[in-house]
Amino acid sequence: MKDYTSLQQVQEDLKLGTCTCEDLVKNYLAKIKSSDINAFLESFDDSALEQAKKVDEKLAVNKAGKLAGMVIGIKDNICYRNHKVSASSKILENFESIYSSTAVERLLAEDAIIIGRLNCDEFAMGSSNENSVYGNVKNPINKDYVPGGSSGGSAAAVKARLCLATLGSDTGGSIRQPASFCGTVGFKPTYGRISRYGLIAYASSFDQIGPLTHTVEDAALLYTIMAGSDEYDSTCTSKKVEKVEFSSPAKKKIAVIKQCLDSEGIDPEVKAKVEATIAHLEALGHEINYVDFPYLDILVPTYYVITTAEASSNLARFDGVHYGYRSENAVDVDSTYIASRSEGFGPEVKRRIMLGTYVLSSGYYDAYFTKAQKTRRLIQDKTAEILAQNDFILTPTTPTTAFKFGANSENPIAMYLQDIFTVQSNLAGGPSISLPLGEHSNGLPFGIQVMGDMYKDADLLSFAHYLMNN
Ligand code: GLN
Repeated sequence: MKDYTSLQQVQEDLKLGTCTCEDLVKNYLAKIKSSDINAFLESFDDSALEQAKKVDEKLAVNKAGKLAGMVIGIKDNICYRNHKVSASSKILENFESIYSSTAVERLLAEDAIIIGRLNCDEFAMGSSNENSVYGNVKNPINKDYVPGGSSGGSAAAVKARLCLATLGSDTGGSIRQPASFCGTVGFKPTYGRISRYGLIAYASSFDQIGPLTHTVEDAALLYTIMAGSDEYDSTCTSKKVEKVEFSSPAKKKIAVIKQCLDSEGIDPEVKAKVEATIAHLEALGHEINYVDFPYLDILVPTYYVITTAEASSNLARFDGVHYGYRSENAVDVDSTYIASRSEGFGPEVKRRIMLGTYVLSSGYYDAYFTKAQKTRRLIQDKTAEILAQNDFILTPTTPTTAFKFGANSENPIAMYLQDIFTVQSNLAGGPSISLPLGEHSNGLPFGIQVMGDMYKDADLLSFAHYLMNN
């Protein structure tokens, strides 16, 4: 069977009758079973084959939805009714969801096929997929290297062609950073564009579901189908979802943050390729504006104070009573909580719960949490100011290519600095996308990031498409 990299190719073949959805699913299931990168935690063989047959029947009578032939893997923090979901954590081991997330419902309504759940960092906390209780995901380009995180399985599965597209979630870069490390497209929509109903919460004022794909067209299609208001998520905006146009955009104003390209630790080849892209855009007639963003140093601290605070509150529900794992050493209420949480959570999740509890504690609330809310506002205002004068902000997605397993494990600060370019759009709320930019001399891919203004997702996607094709 062909190695498909776009829905268009699949749908052409479905139309010609050279393949069926059932063939596609069987082929992907076989590949998942023989793959050695640990991207899938589980394949949903029965339900995927059943759905494939249903879509084939609809295709036969010309009644299939827009996603007929789209075989999708979902990150293991997105709920799908009657299927397991664990957030790659022991605390939710064997937990089965009793409802589907709105994102999954909408994909299924357009005849997508959900083929399985994908490994990730525990509760989406991490940048390397080394924090999963189910083991590391390997980068399909070079198995000694991390795939990025937290949606590491989602990026690796697309790159390794174990399915056509995947869903990830992005709180501080978890779609874009692994997309950069594995060489795929990864799109984080504006906060509130896609319902978070049925997404296991990490930091609720940041979390967004988004697609990882080979092409911008497929990312845009999945986004358009999933986006839009939802009565189950009051933070989901009711603003109209605009159509994404793929015509050549008018001349754009593109901001380049000086401090990003001058930042310490940026790989010279990554920098050179981003600079070459800037020069190319300029040659195509776009206006490049070098702007000041004086808050680069406080992006990561602000992100980690607020997200850990929100995580400590969100993860309080995992107590050995309501969900999943209960310790065998539990003898009363206190020991149920303490032992179940101590045994059920991994070290990074514990670190963040403790950090978050600390920054919210009465003695330190103002010094950390209130202050971080204020610095978030400064970051939001400055980002909005730049985007009032420019259409997009361009940065590398990550300062370097993927690193080797263990390289940052002993040093959480070094790991957190992975997020330096990606957290800005989560703190500010707007959309951002990582596009494959090239191959480093070390053989690994890396990406370029384009950020847009709030609710300008369609403009961002059409510009991203243009950038990929010019
Ligand atoms: N790497 C970041 C973190 O560890 C981002 C995670 C995410 O976006 N879910 O928090």
